Amino acid sequence: MKNDIGTVKTVKKDEFDADDLNLITLAQDYQDEDKARELFEKWRWPNGAVCPHCKFNEAYKIVSKPDTKNKARKGLYCCAACRKTFTATVGTVFEDSRVPISKWLMATFILCSSKKSISANQLHRMLKVTYKTAWFMAHRIRFAMGGDKTKLKGTCEVDETFVGGRGDSKSKFVRQVPVVALIERGGKMHTRVVSSVSQKNLGQCLNECVDKSAIVNTDNHDAYKPALKEYKRHDVVNHSRKEYHRRNPDGTVSTTNSAESFFSLLKRGVYGSWHHVSREHLPKYASEFGFRWNTRHLTDGARTAVAVPMIEGKRLMYRQPAN
Ligand SMILES: [Zn+2]
Repeated sequence: MKNDIGTVKTVKKDEFDADDLNLITLAQDYQDEDKARELFEKWRWPNGAVCPHCKFNEAYKIVSKPDTKNKARKGLYCCAACRKTFTATVGTVFEDSRVPISKWLMATFILCSSKKSISANQLHRMLKVTYKTAWFMAHRIRFAMGGDKTKLKGTCEVDETFVGGRGDSKSKFVRQVPVVALIERGGKMHTRVVSSVSQKNLGQCLNECVDKSAIVNTDNHDAYKPALKEYKRHDVVNHSRKEYHRRNPDGTVSTTNSAESFFSLLKRGVYGSWHHVSREHLPKYASEFGFRWNTRHLTDGARTAVAVPMIEGKRLMYRQPAN
C-alpha cells in the first residue's frame, strides 16, 4: 500500500436487531452516509468483510492518515489474500451507482414494507432523486429480490393468472401476460412469467420450482396433467364445477386458494401502484411480490435485512433483459 494510507484490521460486527428498524429510525440514525454504510456492511457481511474477487474472509479497512492530501475512498477494503481493493457495494446491484447508500437502504426499506408495492414516481418524490433514478433503483432492488432456487416440497399449489391487457379490447389477449405462481402451502413460493400457458411452459416451471416428492394441487387446466404424472400426486380442484376447496378422504385438503390470494395482491399492485407493467419487466414485479410473500412473517426491518444481502452477485445493467 502507499505510505500515506494506514490499514486497520476488520473486527467481527455485533449482531444487529433489524426488528427495531422503521422509517423513523432509518431516517434519524442512518441518514449519515458513514452510518448507512456501516449498517449495509453489517447486513452484507455479518461475519466481517469478504473479498468479492476471491471470496477470502479476511480484509483490511483502508484508512487515510489525517494529514493526507489524497484521501482513500470511504469504506474501502483491501483483501488479505489477493490484495485487491473493494467496497461493500462491489458485485451488488448497488455497484457503480452515484446514489448514496443511505438512499438505497431507504428505497429497499420502502419496497420491503409496501405490501402493494410503490410506483417509481412516488419513490422519486419520497427520496428526492430523479424519476429515472427512482425507476432504476426500484428495478435493481426487485431484481435482487428474485432468484431463490429452493425447490418446494409437501403440498404445493400451482395456478396461473393473466396480468395486464386493459384498454383496447381488440388487443387485450395480445397484451395479457400469463403469470404462474407455485406455492408450498405454509411455506415459500416462486413466480414465473411465461409466454403462454402451454404443457411445455408449465412443465418447465414445475421442474424448476417443485420437488417430485410434492403433492401438487392445480385447477382443471389440461396443460398441467402430463407434467404432473412424475409427481407424487396431482389433485385437481374443478373450478368449472365451482369447486374451490375439497377435503379428501385421507384428511388432506385440495385447493389453490393461496395462489389466488397471491394473485389478488399482485393485481392490486399492478392496477393500484404501477398502472402499466410491460411484459419485459413483469418477472421482476412478480419476484418482488413473491419475496414479500416469502418473508410475510417478518417485520419490515427484518425483511429489509434479508433483502439487502440478496443483492450480492446480481449486478443489473441498465439494458439487461428482465430475467
Ligand atoms: Zn481477494
